[in-house]
Amino acid sequence: MSHTSMRRTGLIFDDRYLLHDTGAESTVRMRGGSFETSPEGHPSSTSITKRIKEFLDGSGLTAMMQPVAARAASEDELAVYHTREYIEGVRSHVQGGPMQGAWGEIESDTPLGAGSFEAALYAAGGAMNGVQAIMQGEVRNAYALLRPPGHHAASNRAMGFCIFNNAVVAADYARRAFGLERVMIVDWDVHHGNGTQDAFYADQGVLFVSLHQHNWYPRLSGELEQVGSGAGAGYTVNIPLPAGTGDRGYRAAFEQLVIPVGLQYRPQLIIISAGQDANWLDPLAQQMVTMSGFRAISQLMLTLAEEVCDGRLLLLQEGGYSLAYVPYCTVAVVEPLIGVDLGLVDLYEGSSEVERCMTILTQETQDALAAAKKWHSNWWNI
Ligand SMILES: [Zn+2]
Repeated sequence: MSHTSMRRTGLIFDDRYLLHDTGAESTVRMRGGSFETSPEGHPSSTSITKRIKEFLDGSGLTAMMQPVAARAASEDELAVYHTREYIEGVRSHVQGGPMQGAWGEIESDTPLGAGSFEAALYAAGGAMNGVQAIMQGEVRNAYALLRPPGHHAASNRAMGFCIFNNAVVAADYARRAFGLERVMIVDWDVHHGNGTQDAFYADQGVLFVSLHQHNWYPRLSGELEQVGSGAGAGYTVNIPLPAGTGDRGYRAAFEQLVIPVGLQYRPQLIIISAGQDANWLDPLAQQMVTMSGFRAISQLMLTLAEEVCDGRLLLLQEGGYSLAYVPYCTVAVVEPLIGVDLGLVDLYEGSSEVERCMTILTQETQDALAAAKKWHSNWWNI
């Protein structure tokens, strides 16, 4: 194979990710004036992962990408962040053991099935193989369609649908295996990446930047004032945004905060915790971002990566819960990575709702952006 035939964007996916079956949960509905409980798919279900993959395949994007195989993370690789007791606790829980104990805890909203441990090992290993493929020049950037997600996972606790922290494991691997001194993690999932923040809170070798709905999940996590500690002070950059921020507010947050901070930090690799749950149809948040908004922030991050680190950019799937709309938003994120625009049309193109999400910029959003800029200017020239 000649060098020019290599594709520039990798795709990490493994059928084992679909073994992480979260099953059904009970929901309460009104019927005939009384309550009725009925089982409904868990919000973090395999069907969204499958559907994103079908969109990538059906649009022709998969064929333009370089397949990058996943692998199982080793216990030593997970233990850079997670306790060995916790890793063992998850393994034993999927075999029928308790949900909590001296080893740690699995929250009840993070159900695990028989295949979940293996899926989680392959998610973390897939993230590391993405780093490897980029650092060795096999691909320039990559999208990892991982499952389960990782950014809420703490050292000894599975929470918020996350088991092992894929972003933390990948950033650590990049530093250990390739000697990187500066890695930037941008977490645009609508929820705060509390686990990732904790991992590097006192560490200036990883710059953690998170955009999220203010005080949403976890509560009080991701406040402006959480900036890191010791040598890491200033290297945690939280950008809490009000509900209803929309495309313009997100773009402004990237243009006014994320990109200038990234240009100053000059990372050697950028990892994105890419949860597309800021979308306007998402049942678990209210951030009102459209397919076009996601395309814009992906393009902005790609341009930053081209500017500071030869385009080395790895996206790791986190959340996203609208079965109808997350696949649209995800193909819009992937297209700029490959450098194509297939003209894929928004599911709700032309509707007044989409129009509103694309144009809204409330005073509350502008105030939040101004407050974030003022606060972070204590550490960054913004
Ligand atoms: Zn999320």
